[in-house]
Amino acid sequence: MFDRRKFIKTSALSAGLIVVSKNSIAEVLPKTIGSNINKPIVISTWDFGVAANADAWKVLSKNGRALDAVEQGVWVPEADESNQSVGYGGLPDRDGKVTLDACIMDELGNCGAVLALEHIKHPISVARKVMEKTPHVMLAGDGALQFALEQGFKKENLLTPASEKAWKEWLKTSKYEPVMNIENKLYDKAAPQKLPGNQYNHDTIGMIAMDAKGNLSGACTTSGMAYKLHGRIGDSPIIGAGLYIDNEIGGATSTGVGEEVVRNVGSFLVVELMRQGYSPEEACKEAVMRIIKKKPETAKNIQVGFLAMNKKGEYGAYAIQKGFSYAVCDSSKQDLVIKGKSYY
Ligand code: ASP
Repeated sequence: MFDRRKFIKTSALSAGLIVVSKNSIAEVLPKTIGSNINKPIVISTWDFGVAANADAWKVLSKNGRALDAVEQGVWVPEADESNQSVGYGGLPDRDGKVTLDACIMDELGNCGAVLALEHIKHPISVARKVMEKTPHVMLAGDGALQFALEQGFKKENLLTPASEKAWKEWLKTSKYEPVMNIENKLYDKAAPQKLPGNQYNHDTIGMIAMDAKGNLSGACTTSGMAYKLHGRIGDSPIIGAGLYIDNEIGGATSTGVGEEVVRNVGSFLVVELMRQGYSPEEACKEAVMRIIKKKPETAKNIQVGFLAMNKKGEYGAYAIQKGFSYAVCDSSKQDLVIKGKSYY
């Protein structure tokens, strides 16, 4: 079959053409060739991304693979018990169970995910095993746990005393109601806030890295929405919603109320918009606008943020509400936190 894309790419390369037309398939070419690519680089959601990026950077700075970098980077918040929205110490569901969602995707389009996984501290590594050791993409619930145990992961109690206390407080009202950007309130070094445990909270680490070879990978991991119905799955472990990587174009990830991201297949949409020539920030903005357009009343009261990187190592973000932040680490910036732009 005639492969138009390959044809354009080959002809443009051999003719040394600079292709500039927006919306053309070939316009991505200048981003994928040339020497001014900012790599290696890693970006991740929220202020807690700084510590995660630092560990990812240990891999990237030694010429390691982006896939290893994102896995090892997100181990940091997964293991951090003070982080109540990712991994160990995450707030439980309505029934007091900590159920974790995670996915990972590499430069070859390989991907793996675990959904509502209990008792395993590093769901991202189980997701990687699903990708590498099974013919499947997703494993859920008991099946995911069984697989993890077979792979040698340790069964642990993930409900910390602090999260159990918060859940018991919440049970008094049992009101499912969001606190936007809670992680900034908790992690703001200048003014940390102790929020009452009965407040509902959420947030996710989504990370995208490009290694020295120019290959992209991504990881996304979360305990999801606190006090959710048992069995609820958000966007985070869904390839295309919470995370998407296309090694020709770039990668995207999301955080916030996952139901609205799933409705719009958010991260895939962001990558496809970058394919059409949008900058990372423009692409994230357009994805946010779709959410707002589809459900304007809902969007007023929730947070959703997208974060993206293209093949040049350019990055950007956009959120519905103020307060979304992301962390960047490359050879010139190590602890950078950027406040994402927002609609409201
Ligand atoms: N996206 C996550 C979920 O819906 C939560 C978050 O990132 O705030 O489970």
